Amino acid sequence: MTTFHARALQPVDPLFPKAGAAIDLLREAIVRTHHGHIAVVSSFGAESALLLALVAGIDPGLPVLFLDTGKHFPETLAYRTQLVARLGLTDLRVVQPDAAALARIDPDGTLHRFIPDDCCALRKVAPLEHALAPFDAWISGRKRYQSAGRAVLPLREEVDGRVKLNPLAEWSAAEIAAEIRRRDLPAHPLVARGFPSIGCAPCTRAVGPGEDVRAGRWAGSGKTECGIHRSPASRRPDPQPVFPQPIPASPSATPATGNEP
Ligand code: SF4
Repeated sequence: MTTFHARALQPVDPLFPKAGAAIDLLREAIVRTHHGHIAVVSSFGAESALLLALVAGIDPGLPVLFLDTGKHFPETLAYRTQLVARLGLTDLRVVQPDAAALARIDPDGTLHRFIPDDCCALRKVAPLEHALAPFDAWISGRKRYQSAGRAVLPLREEVDGRVKLNPLAEWSAAEIAAEIRRRDLPAHPLVARGFPSIGCAPCTRAVGPGEDVRAGRWAGSGKTECGIHRSPASRRPDPQPVFPQPIPASPSATPATGNEP
């Protein structure tokens, strides 16, 4: 009898060549070209299970970096625990913002309401740069279908001297959902509540019928990315306030678990 664990890690469906190509790309990097110097970065979001399952099928000991902003939905933290156990991942690394910088720049935890770019820089971008320092390559779960800004996402890119792999770049939402079902992977609990893209609780709302999958991220603010996928050279060297008004509150968001007042 096939166990849940075995089904999650099962080999590719020969009728779906994209899965084979993604695994080949990952295996080449993990086992050969970047062996011992590569990590996967995961938000444990709506579609994260598939990339993590592909990685676990090659090396369950690969470092998995999770940016713990202190603002995640409690459902995301529970899902992280569930997926790590299910896939047998053995090197989860929870990456947190610098405590002194948090106390200095965002002492009451409200920066996201007024200057979300600076909040992301503090809670995501800077911690990830620090966490990636030992690695010369990393793996992301971005897909081209997610937004216009990701429409030409390559499978492999090099950003400021570090290789970044996007093995699912060419997959559609339907293909990912089908492969998640085929592997019997658990769904993030918020997906069923209308969250097809899941970030920090204060900056994520459910989307309505016909809306873009990322329409619920920083909704109403004009912001579309947190900044971790931009080249450091392209980031603002001297952060300035971006929004004159707070981001509208999300009525459907579960309260965050961090230092949200
Ligand atoms: S997504 Fe929102 S709460 Fe999370 S780091 Fe960015 S601005 Fe802050």
